[in-house]
Amino acid sequence: MDTKYDLHSHSYYSDGDLSPEQLVIKAAEAQISHLALTDHDTVEGLNEARLAASKHGVELINGVELSCTWENQLVHIVGLNISSSDPLLRAIIEQNKRRRLNRAEAMFEDFEQNGIELRDSVQELLVDRCVPTRPHFAEALINQGYAKDKKQAFKRFLVRGKPGYIPMLWPNLNEVGKAIVASGGVAVLAHPMRYKLTRTKLCRLIADMVSAGIKGMEISTASTDRQQVIMLSKLAEQFNLYSSLGSDFHSEHQPWARLGQAAPLPKTLTPVWEAFN
Ligand code: AMP
Ligand code: MN
Ligand code: MN
Ligand code: MN
Repeated sequence: MDTKYDLHSHSYYSDGDLSPEQLVIKAAEAQISHLALTDHDTVEGLNEARLAASKHGVELINGVELSCTWENQLVHIVGLNISSSDPLLRAIIEQNKRRRLNRAEAMFEDFEQNGIELRDSVQELLVDRCVPTRPHFAEALINQGYAKDKKQAFKRFLVRGKPGYIPMLWPNLNEVGKAIVASGGVAVLAHPMRYKLTRTKLCRLIADMVSAGIKGMEISTASTDRQQVIMLSKLAEQFNLYSSLGSDFHSEHQPWARLGQAAPLPKTLTPVWEAFN
């Protein structure tokens, strides 16, 4: 059978819309043979995803997308083929969940100071899932008529200088890299184009992450064009990185990131799954 990989996706255990099982069913429909569930700062969905995957003929790769701070900037590191029970990884995940809960509290207060009460509507969206994300706040803002869509919510609120923005200090590259490696996983830099770094700065980030044991980078995503794939492929070769691909699927309402949408990796690269054992 042909293989098709999508190594970056979200369920409703973080900021996705679908349950892990619904996600796996969508993957099977999209002829994805290997799917990684990579929720933000949680591994809560992996068991459900694994059960569903064996039922629907999909190979599930355990994943997580960890928030990380590098040079005062938020970067996302995806851990693939992790063991979700590793104590060091669990500790980092628990820390980030705690940070998210504290941030949510500070966000509620900041919104209140701006005359906006979001507590109930955010709590309603989260039910008993414990990873509050900015998209949950965006949805609550839309539901209450403060924004017409997520794009507008992330323009008027939730970003630097706007109501609801709380600066965060996440763990650094070394902490994150170490925890993923300790769990037997491979760490990759998520969506490198998203940070809008100069080439010099991107090279510095890559050098720093390699020192932290982060050995891969996403080359193909739903939003990278051919030129960007070529540019990133050169960097992957130059720094001897494993290459990953993933759609970063969150929701059927985001047609710009459909499940399975990332183009296949250039054949000259070393795919990250060669590092899975
Ligand atoms: P958080 O990790 O809670 O700070 O939220 C980050 C998430 O917000 C990202 O993973 C995206 O899914 C989402 N996000 C960030 N910026 C935007 C935007 N401009 N429009 C829609 N979603 C966004
Ligand atoms: Mn997200
Ligand atoms: Mn991300
Ligand atoms: Mn993501």
